[in-house]
Amino acid sequence: MTTAQDLIARSGAAGALVAGLAWSETPLGPLASWPPRVKVVLETVLASGFPLCVLLGDEPAHARVVYNDAFAPLLGHKHPAAMGRPAREVWPESWDFFEWALRQVWHAGQPVTGKDLMLRLDRGNDLEEVYVSISFSPIRDDQGAVCGALMCGMETTGVVLAARRERALRLLVDALRPAKREDDFYRIMPKALSYTLKDVFFAFLYELDPAGKKATLRVTAGLAAEAPEALRAFTLAPGCPWEMAFVVRENEMRLVPSAGLGLCVMSALAGPPTRAAVLPVTGGSPPGPAAVLVVGLRPARPLDDEYGAFVQRIAREISVALTDIRSLRAAERHAEAVAESRLKDMFLGIASHELRTPLTCLKLNVQLVHRELTALEPRLAARLDGLSRSIDRMTRLVNEMLSVSAIAAGKLTLQETYCDLRSICTSAGAEQSQAARRPVSLHLPEEPVCVFADEDRTGQVIANLLANAFKYSAAEEPVELSLERSGTEAIVTVRDRGPGIPKESFPRVFDRFYRVPGVSVRTGSYVGLGLGLYLSKAIIEQHHGRIWVESEVGRGSAFSFSMPLAA
Ligand code: ADP
Repeated sequence: MTTAQDLIARSGAAGALVAGLAWSETPLGPLASWPPRVKVVLETVLASGFPLCVLLGDEPAHARVVYNDAFAPLLGHKHPAAMGRPAREVWPESWDFFEWALRQVWHAGQPVTGKDLMLRLDRGNDLEEVYVSISFSPIRDDQGAVCGALMCGMETTGVVLAARRERALRLLVDALRPAKREDDFYRIMPKALSYTLKDVFFAFLYELDPAGKKATLRVTAGLAAEAPEALRAFTLAPGCPWEMAFVVRENEMRLVPSAGLGLCVMSALAGPPTRAAVLPVTGGSPPGPAAVLVVGLRPARPLDDEYGAFVQRIAREISVALTDIRSLRAAERHAEAVAESRLKDMFLGIASHELRTPLTCLKLNVQLVHRELTALEPRLAARLDGLSRSIDRMTRLVNEMLSVSAIAAGKLTLQETYCDLRSICTSAGAEQSQAARRPVSLHLPEEPVCVFADEDRTGQVIANLLANAFKYSAAEEPVELSLERSGTEAIVTVRDRGPGIPKESFPRVFDRFYRVPGVSVRTGSYVGLGLGLYLSKAIIEQHHGRIWVESEVGRGSAFSFSMPLAA
């Protein structure tokens, strides 16, 4: 007949282990002497594919552990030494809980159950926070006295942590939603980050300066005392705290040691935080990190895929919130700029139109008076010349403004004819040279350079470039106007030896109202509005040409435009 011992011994590796133990040296005595009811329970437990464990003894403090194969992995490195050992030696780290539960079973004869209880267990990875749903039920001997407990446990750590983290992230996102400005964002952040403090020991958010060179601690969560001075603001350089220079440069997460930094955290369940994850936080525009998040990792929790994904998501949700705020601000700024620009266009249109009529009238009258005075009072007539030039300058300004409002309204029209660019250059050169009372050195090809263009508008562009060359260079410096053919294009260049334009201003000189900082009018009193080059660009582009500048600070500038040659 098969005995209970035989059945036990044949129940997998765990059964063999149980059968081979020297039970006679324990208070439980030899296996053969155990009460038949206990042996039946053991047979059943060892044969089960579900993780089960029994604790046998005359009282909790002496209860010894017997478990089946399915239970062994839950013991980690403690298996197989745990088989037959007293429970208090197997789980010293959570003995408080076991003792309390086992007392209920032994002394009150009551089963005990608990759902998602947190235990700190040593399974070879320091102390882990483990969640279990567990039940202890009494095992009685043949006289009905409690002589042990059957423990059925199911680890629920994954489910509990996933639900807790999901909730923390939801609360964080909800908390940040009302933030419409970056100041609000940083003000709300301590509360938003506090929701993550069950999974991270502390959280810091550093703001980076726009150049990404300096980090300033704007938010802390989870600290019992202020952050140490050295961690509050620093320059990003090799050796700076949190290896932040690396994180910002590479725009990727880094794990760094956090022991010995003098951090005083509020909850140190299993010792102070020893590692921190340092993560870049982006804000959409400009690209690259706008802030850096540092979170203290719980030593009791291995940084497995789920934990890693969780800390990355904290940084991602914060990045999303910051990006939203920045795009909202950008949209607002754009709307403001559009409104402002519309207002400027309207103003330009009205003001220039209203100014043109009295100016024309003034000019006519000056011409009449000039004609009559020339014979009578030549000295006074010369004065009128000055007056006439002022009117010309004002007329040019007003015309510039009118043209700009025509561009804004999409109404810049060209009267194109076949013409020789050489004559346009010659007359614009002569006109500007006379107005500035300075020579222009002309370099024109011998052959006609025929283009299909609006003569007046093209002349206006050359006049603008020449006027600038005169205006921004000293009176004794030469100004040169050249025309050449290059492939299928004609190229006109105005060159001066003025102050030059720094490279960073190249893309902006053709913008409306842009004036290069530090460049001042050297000759003449005509101060511009920053519209001439904008207008020139619009005219040239309408002719299917290009306009550009080459310049070196201190050496002068060359403004050129191209136009397709007429076939
Ligand atoms: P403005 O009426 O102010 O001259 P423009 O549109 O013609 O406006 O020129 C824009 C700006 O570009 C000027 O304000 C000046 O700062 C710079 N600029 C234009 N031409 C020259 C030049 N030849 N040398 C140096 N700076 C120049």
